[in-house]
Amino acid sequence: MAEIKKKNWREYMWIVSATYLTLGFFNIMFAWLGLFCFFIPLIMSIVQGKKGYCNKYCGRGQLFTVLGKKLKLSRNKDVPRWMKSRLFRYGFLAFFLTMFCLMIRNTYLVFAGAQSLREAVTLLWTFQLPWHFAYHGTAFSPWTAQFAFGFYGVMLTSSVLGMITMVIYKPRSWCVYCPMGTMTQLICMAKHPQTAKNPDGIKSLEDILGHKNVRFTEKTSTKVDIR
Ligand code: SF4
Repeated sequence: MAEIKKKNWREYMWIVSATYLTLGFFNIMFAWLGLFCFFIPLIMSIVQGKKGYCNKYCGRGQLFTVLGKKLKLSRNKDVPRWMKSRLFRYGFLAFFLTMFCLMIRNTYLVFAGAQSLREAVTLLWTFQLPWHFAYHGTAFSPWTAQFAFGFYGVMLTSSVLGMITMVIYKPRSWCVYCPMGTMTQLICMAKHPQTAKNPDGIKSLEDILGHKNVRFTEKTSTKVDIR
């Protein structure tokens, strides 16, 4: 008789990601919860030296798998070489962090009283979407709301980009250039310099990074399978 595989709670993290994105349409202050997805992967990679978060807990990656693979919304085409290149991935990380710093600066300006609260979400770093319907005031200082609008914009932008590349390429194409994935990868490589530099250590590097289906070094990037 066929064995029925018991599902682990970790396989449902995509629901958390989908819920997070939905809540942002009702109350922008829920955006603060996204900080968990920001700090937990970094802390896990610093403490463990592995990409355990990507491998087991990332709801966003799972969400792309559900949409692309289970709902068959992905064309399932190979990711282009340039997207896997170090230049693009590190360049995108630098760009992403620059935009993140600008978002923090806007928050600071509201904190300092130099700028009033903007009830808008910036999508793809360009489009200012009116988002007043999701703001119902806050018991805290207005800068907390400014941060929420800015941070939700970051999360929404990465989700939209991920969905576009999910449709065009493989379901988890976003994971190839995800800034968080790149940062945790750099941390893992810094923690395991021997393995990272050893061309013969590709297999063990995959073990270290713990996410063989996504992306690792340039040496392994040609073998990436982002199903
Ligand atoms: S690369 Fe990014 S989206 Fe993909 S699993 Fe890791 S943190 Fe999640």
